Amino acid sequence: MKSYDQLFIDGRWVAPGKRGSFETLDPSNEQVIANVAAATSEDIDLAVKAARRAFDEGPWPRMRGVERATVLRRIARGIRDRLSELAELEVRDNGKPLPEALWDLGDAAGCFEFYAGLAEQLDDHAETPIKLSDDRFSSIARKEPVGVAGAIIPWNFPMLMAAWKVAPALAAGCTMVLKPSELTPLTALELADIAAAADLPPGVLNVVTGLGKDAGAPLAEHPGIDKLAFTGSVPTGSRIMQAAARDIKNISLELGGKSPFIVFDDSDIDAAVEWIMFGIFWNQGEVCSATSRVLVQRGIYERLLDRLEEETRKITIGNGLEEGVLLGPIVSRAQYDKVREAVERGVSEGARLVTGGGRPAHLDRGYFMEPAIFADVPAESWIWNEEIFGPVVCIRPFDDEAQAVRSANDSRFGLAAAVMSRDTVRCERVARALRAGIVWINCSQPTFTEAPWGGYKQSGIGRELGEWGLNNYLETKQITRYESDQPWGWYIK
Ligand code: NAD
Repeated sequence: MKSYDQLFIDGRWVAPGKRGSFETLDPSNEQVIANVAAATSEDIDLAVKAARRAFDEGPWPRMRGVERATVLRRIARGIRDRLSELAELEVRDNGKPLPEALWDLGDAAGCFEFYAGLAEQLDDHAETPIKLSDDRFSSIARKEPVGVAGAIIPWNFPMLMAAWKVAPALAAGCTMVLKPSELTPLTALELADIAAAADLPPGVLNVVTGLGKDAGAPLAEHPGIDKLAFTGSVPTGSRIMQAAARDIKNISLELGGKSPFIVFDDSDIDAAVEWIMFGIFWNQGEVCSATSRVLVQRGIYERLLDRLEEETRKITIGNGLEEGVLLGPIVSRAQYDKVREAVERGVSEGARLVTGGGRPAHLDRGYFMEPAIFADVPAESWIWNEEIFGPVVCIRPFDDEAQAVRSANDSRFGLAAAVMSRDTVRCERVARALRAGIVWINCSQPTFTEAPWGGYKQSGIGRELGEWGLNNYLETKQITRYESDQPWGWYIK
């Protein structure tokens, strides 16, 4: 295995100042894959200074969008050229099944291609004339890169989360310091190599691996950062917001969720079961938008539970690199313990454990868990209200639309929601009543680079993806000119 014991700063691989490292494990067998460089505040300072120099003095923010797009497309090609190797690395580091990793990597490349297109459009659309109420003046609104961006990302979609931040930031003309999760740092380090091979100028993208408290916190607190983009848990998001408040950094936060899925009783049961499963078991349920709270109309409640149990029991669990596996291990020992404790808590809270929650009999190593279904989950219980971030679905019955919408919206989160019914008018009405940033009708989870992504309430601030993702990394400047040949005449008459 290749070595990952250096940081990528100012276009070069450098050892961390304190020479520290941490281990990253393969969650399917608990074996160490690599010793990874552990950055501390002095390394973060070097990385931010490199990004600052690249922004203040380097070519990147001054290039035309079309030139930046060429580099972004080369990065996309670099990912596509190494797709299967990178996907395999992602499986070993994160645990997810290989077809899902291949999908993520393809989407990551697609994200760079999409933002290459928006970078090109910026050349013609960065300046918009504004019609003023006083025709002695003329004005334009001009979009400019926000500056040096710090990005801190989680472990559930390592390369994809990196792409969602790096691609729009670079398209906008920003420079960046990226800190991947300490649980899954490897593909972000490969991205640094790919970016260097794509001739991204030194200092434009810096990748620093390390622990949250030693590398993430100094990045969030660094005065040289203009913008912080964070994806992760609510408690860390709150800390990031406090750090950003000190010197009024521009922030965007993509946080957790406990997203509802409302299934009306005119739904096709097989279609409902398919999307419920995709909504919670895909990526081991380690998905911020997972539809983990399912509300099923009483008329089909028991029938749907039976079919869901039957199909859930058929899921092949194992090492994500094995053919046919649909559920890999949970990412880490800590997360595994957290999910197992949530299952025990659900039982003690009086929810009915329909299936799963235990260790699969054929797997004695690795952080494997049978996918779990809880029915009749009490509305006030912890498992109904809090994010578990694992393959555990909580289900409750409902009687009518008003009750379903009320229960769905009764949450401190508001990332995503889904509704299923054959009645399209009802679906549209419910979609508009749901307090969430992403609403799926007759499906759950499909995500498109072109469409806005982000949450209401405690699920976050701001939107990623699409043109909204680019705007995250742009400032708006007005340039106003006095055009009249008459003197202003306020002081000097
Ligand atoms: P986490 O908050 O523990 O860690 C996220 C990142 O923050 C990691 O890189 C970590 O090293 C860093 N970090 C930790 N402490 C820090 C600190 N004090 N200062 C700065 N950085 C720090 O979250 P996680 O366990 O990696 O990810 C799971 C969470 O992420 C879930 O709650 C999930 O819902 C959320 N998530 C949200 C989205 C979304 O788009 N909304 C996407 C993926 C994951």
